[in-house]
Amino acid sequence: MIIQDVAAPGQSGDGEAFVRRDHMLFIGGKQVPPVSGQMLDVEDPSSGEVLGRVAEGDKADVDAAVMAARRAFEGPWSEMSPSERSRIIWRLADLILDHAGELATINTLENGKPIGDSLNGEVPFTADVFRYYAGWATKLNGETMTVSAPGNWHTYTRREPIGVTAQIIPWNFPLAMLAWKVAPALATGCTIVLKPAEQTPIGALRLAELAMEAGLPEGVLNVVTGYGATAGAALSAHPGVDKIAFTGSTATGRAIATAAIGNLKKVSLELGGKAPTIILPDADLDMAIAGAASGSFFNAGQSCGAGTRLYVHRDVYDRVVEGVAEQGAAMQMGAGIDPATQLGPVVSKKQQSRIFRILEEGRDDGAEIVCGGFAPNREGYFVSPTIVGNVRSSMAVMREEVFGPVVCAIPFDDDGLDEVARAANDTEYGLASAIWTNDLSKAHRLAAKIKAGTVWVNTHNFNDVTMPFGGFKQSGWGRDLGAQALDLYTETKTVAMRLP
Ligand code: ADP
Ligand code: MG
Repeated sequence: MIIQDVAAPGQSGDGEAFVRRDHMLFIGGKQVPPVSGQMLDVEDPSSGEVLGRVAEGDKADVDAAVMAARRAFEGPWSEMSPSERSRIIWRLADLILDHAGELATINTLENGKPIGDSLNGEVPFTADVFRYYAGWATKLNGETMTVSAPGNWHTYTRREPIGVTAQIIPWNFPLAMLAWKVAPALATGCTIVLKPAEQTPIGALRLAELAMEAGLPEGVLNVVTGYGATAGAALSAHPGVDKIAFTGSTATGRAIATAAIGNLKKVSLELGGKAPTIILPDADLDMAIAGAASGSFFNAGQSCGAGTRLYVHRDVYDRVVEGVAEQGAAMQMGAGIDPATQLGPVVSKKQQSRIFRILEEGRDDGAEIVCGGFAPNREGYFVSPTIVGNVRSSMAVMREEVFGPVVCAIPFDDDGLDEVARAANDTEYGLASAIWTNDLSKAHRLAAKIKAGTVWVNTHNFNDVTMPFGGFKQSGWGRDLGAQALDLYTETKTVAMRLP
């Protein structure tokens, strides 16, 4: 309903009109043209047409943004009380909800996802994340320690902001990924240079404007749009950056960690996943089928927690695979901006080609496409919901993060949990997993065996701002969300005072 209000062209708060502008960088609270004068096109993935243009920031722009962030860190932001910081972050949450229709429209146009998912899911979640961390700004206390050394002592810790943080985010949840990074950094008193993904940079620019409206001092949140290999690499290597936080692919995470070595900036990484979904024979199958389908196909599978390896007990295998295939086939495919759409395109031509290449390799190796596996006959970067059977664990489709609506189905036989746990853990990734069962004992025992940062039981892709999210193994370093994310943005200082 809100969508209709903002859809009239030219009206203020019109997401589409905002998208279609030429966008400058956002540095020191102002719109600044890129030093190179270059712009880059942002595409509508549902048609391949150019939606708008953003500045192509590069090293010189990164330098300017880091300087602005440093000035704000040493100046106005450090002079504000935690309570003032808290109120600004809370106001930003209010503004996000006041502009929900506009932000949802921008998010859906540049990413392609269904407008309902933006409007009722991602945008309110983004506001929630800011609200939660607004509360933390006033609760970052140190502690006092009781030491045993002879004499009189007063020893305590302080939690201090790390300083200037660089944050590089992906295109799959452009607003939520921004909030996961920006909100805890603001709460702790850090300043930020944000580099959104080149495919989806526009929502971040609108959000930075709203942050200024909320009262954020100039230079606290800077947005440098541009490519990863240039702007992103410059940020990762920058000696003026104290901490870098990244969400994206494992390969890029490795490049960022390597670049960060120079000044040993602190690094946190939320990387790829290859989540197993395990369906035990006692599960409520209607619920499990619906959950497995949405776990695999939600956001066109472009979620690091997406269920990509579906392990189903042989007794219920045929029924589950048939059910998931039916649900996939029933999803209405289309441009995200159409309210009837349930499955949008994947984000880019490159992404679409990569998905089909991985499927093709699987087919050559003997995998069987149970359903889907084709590009529907329409423009835009669509991929039909796909189930792959007869897979082996060595196939790329079983090992690589596909980031499309593609799931491998694998039957298992034993009623013990060790075999299926071993298969589920046979991956370099360890981000998320899901178990479907009504047997409490099996649920808890299997949850303990799975090597992943999140285990969902009888649900999938459930994230709450209170719940730490991040990876075991090559899925990353550190945890976003919850109280743990505050540790990523604070240094602990110990003060030991002898009282003579
Ligand atoms: P994809 O290749 O699917 O776009 P990435 O993980 O490479 O996924 O991209 C996620 C984010 O990382 C984007 O903002 C992108 O611009 C950025 N990025 C890509 N390569 C680099 C790099 N070498 N250094 C820093 N950032 C990068
Ligand atoms: Mg890349």
